[in-house]
Amino acid sequence: MKQIQSEDIIAKRREFLFPGVHHFYQDPPVMVRGSMQYLYDANGKQYVDFFSGVSVMNCGHCNPDIIKKSIDQMQRLQHTTTIYLTEPIVQLAEKLATILPGNIKRSFFCNSGTEANEGALLLARLHTKKRNFIYLHGGLHGRSQLTASVTGIPMWRGAPYLEENCYEIPAYHAGNLQAEEASLTALKKTLSQDANIAAMIMEPIQGNGGIIMPSQEYMKQVATLLKKHKVLVIMDEVQTGFGRTGTWFGCEHFPITPDIITTAKALGNGYPIAAFSTTDSIASSMTIPSASTLGGHPTAAATAIGVIEYIEEHNLGKRATHLGDMMIHGLKRLQTIFPCIHEVRGTGCMVGAEVRAIAKTQKFTNTQQFQESANLTDFIIETMKNRGFIIGKNGLHRNVLAFQPPLVVEEQDIENMLKQLSEVLSLAD
Ligand code: PMP
Repeated sequence: MKQIQSEDIIAKRREFLFPGVHHFYQDPPVMVRGSMQYLYDANGKQYVDFFSGVSVMNCGHCNPDIIKKSIDQMQRLQHTTTIYLTEPIVQLAEKLATILPGNIKRSFFCNSGTEANEGALLLARLHTKKRNFIYLHGGLHGRSQLTASVTGIPMWRGAPYLEENCYEIPAYHAGNLQAEEASLTALKKTLSQDANIAAMIMEPIQGNGGIIMPSQEYMKQVATLLKKHKVLVIMDEVQTGFGRTGTWFGCEHFPITPDIITTAKALGNGYPIAAFSTTDSIASSMTIPSASTLGGHPTAAATAIGVIEYIEEHNLGKRATHLGDMMIHGLKRLQTIFPCIHEVRGTGCMVGAEVRAIAKTQKFTNTQQFQESANLTDFIIETMKNRGFIIGKNGLHRNVLAFQPPLVVEEQDIENMLKQLSEVLSLAD
């Protein structure tokens, strides 16, 4: 049988997909198989996956316990839509209610993070009868008209004619008091100038923005200000949900209670399912007819129940904390040796290492600094891939190494990764 070649896939992508769909790597492998924390390419080479398809495969690739539940359901009943009664969707909603924070209880199921956020924004408008939104620089919430309008990453705001009256405020950044003060000042000003703000949408830890955490004090002040102005908090847990950060949801690390939570990615562990969830009182405002044809259909719901049960049974939250601490400790050690590791941040298995290229002779201009740092990041992830480790990349300047492995990764995998990373950083030096 002819082996699949990466050039063939690239040629077909160029011909049949859209030009804005990019891939990582100069020499990209063709992935053909996955098993828990491992991926395998068409040549049979094994990789330890430290990105989980962007924070999706929390329970591991092709996890047999979860897949069995999907297949059992698929063989009985795949889909009917919500106008007919089926059991898995209500079982899933009931199960989710047991892990969602605060009084959040009701869920609306859909298919992607974008769709969940779009629904959450609509719900906020319906409940508050107000129209406008606040969002953070560096936040990412989706590709649709409205979710792109509340996304604070320039590269994901390419659509023309984005919604007006969505206010961007500076990002949080734990440890950077000045940045957080600027963010809070802008928030106060926006809230006092516009009485028509329905909600603020935010990630509890920015993923695409470069694994950026807020401080406790920042979140406390945001919560107080929004409450005072009767503005809802929409917490986008698309990347941070389901044990990723050591708790069920990322917001549990902070003194803030969301009004609406959105989830996707790891909820299906690779199967498309998403949700926006809220309290009885807020949900009661959404009486307009609403249906998602495939949202939470029996197979998706059975899979998601399997995911939550697996995380519970294997205590993956606790595991994420332990493994994340190992990664943070190891990366901080590397930071003392390699000055190009500018900052290590995150919690649980959501860890970022910001790369800043060091000028050998003359100081870099700002543009050179960004370019050289992005190039160095690309060199690191390419060389790590050649050595069998898939590391993610994010950040506004594409210079943050992202470590978001399946939560089933082993200590030994982390030790091996850190050892290789140390060698790769010394090659880059
Ligand atoms: N919110 C966050 C925090 C995300 O990271 C993403 C995707 N990376 C989205 C929303 C959009 O999710 P989807 O791609 O499933 O539409």
